[in-house]
Amino acid sequence: MSEELSHIFRFCPRCAAEWPQIQRDRQLLCPSCGLSFFFNTAAAAGAFVFAGDRLVLCVRAQEPGKGLLDVPGGFIEFDESVEEGLRREILEELSIEVSDLRYLTSAPNDYRYAGIPYKTADMFFVCEALNGDPLRAADDVAEIVRVDPCDVNPDQFAFASTRRAFLVLLEAMQKQGLFA
Ligand SMILES: [Zn+2]
Repeated sequence: MSEELSHIFRFCPRCAAEWPQIQRDRQLLCPSCGLSFFFNTAAAAGAFVFAGDRLVLCVRAQEPGKGLLDVPGGFIEFDESVEEGLRREILEELSIEVSDLRYLTSAPNDYRYAGIPYKTADMFFVCEALNGDPLRAADDVAEIVRVDPCDVNPDQFAFASTRRAFLVLLEAMQKQGLFA
């Protein structure tokens, strides 16, 4: 990624010297003025929302992953807890409130937006839809589907982190009878 980042950040944002160094994919260092800037991992969260025994999933309306499956969720904003951010995203995308958020697992992800590669730490939770008839799609959601989790092909998920978390969910449901 560092070669790509060095072509995106061609100038020091403070002194405008050309070709600042990108070290270990995560630190911009300017030899001219000494600026040190870190590209930090972005926090994101997603929810496996159950409506009865059905899993509520979104079909993505936008790139990256347009047309592929996703869970409701998104980036955590400044000064937000992970749970607050996830509830906000669920409300925006599905127009529903959900039950207590139970932590499931986390996984790293690569998220490319507008040509820029971002590294994220995705945290996944399990919850239940509270209102009976949720689910109005937001702008960035093409369609909302309710599926039997056993019918979902993990390859249909847009992101590697969601695929990993979905397999953890299936294992938890099968081994422990949890979350069903
Ligand atoms: Zn500089």
